[in-house]
Amino acid sequence: MVHLDRLQRPLRNLRLSVTDRCNLRCAYCMPEESYTWLPKGRLLSFEEISRLVDVFLDLGVRKLRLTGGEPLLRQELEVLIAQLASKQRLEDLALTTNGILLAEKAQALRTAGLHRLTVSLDTLDRRRFAALTKRDGLESVLAGIEAARRAGFQRIKLDTVVLRGTNDDEIVPLMEFARDRDLELRYIEYMDVGGATHWKRETVVSRAELLERLRAAYGPITPLAEHDSAPAERFLLSDGIVFGIIASTTQPFCSTCDRSRLTADGMWYTCLYAPQGTNLRDPLREGATNAELAQRILGRWSERADRGAQERLAMHERTALASSEELRANPHWEMHTRGG
Ligand code: SAM
Ligand code: SF4
Ligand code: SF4
Repeated sequence: MVHLDRLQRPLRNLRLSVTDRCNLRCAYCMPEESYTWLPKGRLLSFEEISRLVDVFLDLGVRKLRLTGGEPLLRQELEVLIAQLASKQRLEDLALTTNGILLAEKAQALRTAGLHRLTVSLDTLDRRRFAALTKRDGLESVLAGIEAARRAGFQRIKLDTVVLRGTNDDEIVPLMEFARDRDLELRYIEYMDVGGATHWKRETVVSRAELLERLRAAYGPITPLAEHDSAPAERFLLSDGIVFGIIASTTQPFCSTCDRSRLTADGMWYTCLYAPQGTNLRDPLREGATNAELAQRILGRWSERADRGAQERLAMHERTALASSEELRANPHWEMHTRGG
């Protein structure tokens, strides 16, 4: 049974934030000095997560991505992954990580049954990495990528947020890095999500500009004709290398968006930009049955008309979504809480 929202989009894809904590402080995501953290007692246990995932599977979700915050900070994550991987109806189980802890965890993730891995990497320069993330961690991330390859992960993706004046001179070096290691690089436009309090339109390097600069370096680029709901548009260089662009800011893909997000404390959001979420934790803890939880989810999904990024694009005066004070008062707006 496919459940459609008001714009005929199916409920198919769930991002699961397993923690709001992070061991980096990327300038485009967590630039502030201090944050309001979710209270520990509210964090869903693995059993609670697994139960909610079963309800989402009943409703047609088939793809799951673990994220955060930094998901590898969650203790014994591989135990959760093994539980999730054993669910027959799940077609895709992926994880996005900053890679800092990947060298020590890659094999356990693979053994637990994780299908796919995305590693975020914005620069190959050690000092720049430290300036951008407030931590001297480039070596750990590079070791993590190697460990993931050794552990047997195929088609590992590399996600790069391109910021004008910070790392836009590494568009080509990052492509070379990915090509040499058989990774699929995806350039991400800088988004004005909650948390990006320093966002400015001028700092965004658009899809159009990225393509122009890549054409100058590599020659003709062919778009791959794919008709799915994946956020990345994929392209082919003349030598057969495939890469992606996630143009959330200049060409949002809300019209086919089948994604929703569950935070580590059990709030469910039907859009990255949605101001309100649906509390699934309290009913779960108060003894709701799976059918009652499903009703709650479907009630919201059937009303869903979110097009957050398209609405942002239509704005004339576009500045950061929320101030640091607003975010401290409502941490669920933060990208690192909601799950990227
Ligand atoms: N900590 C993990 C990581 O960095 O891979 C997972 C969570 S992070 C929120 C997921 C993704 O969101 C990362 O690839 C990150 O680059 C991206 N992201 C965070 N803030 C962003 C922003 N303002 N614009 C575009 N992408 C952003
Ligand atoms: Fe960076 Fe990911 Fe942490 Fe955000 S959650 S600060 S993108 S590592
Ligand atoms: Fe989906 Fe909202 Fe992102 Fe649009 S802005 S693609 S509706 S999550």
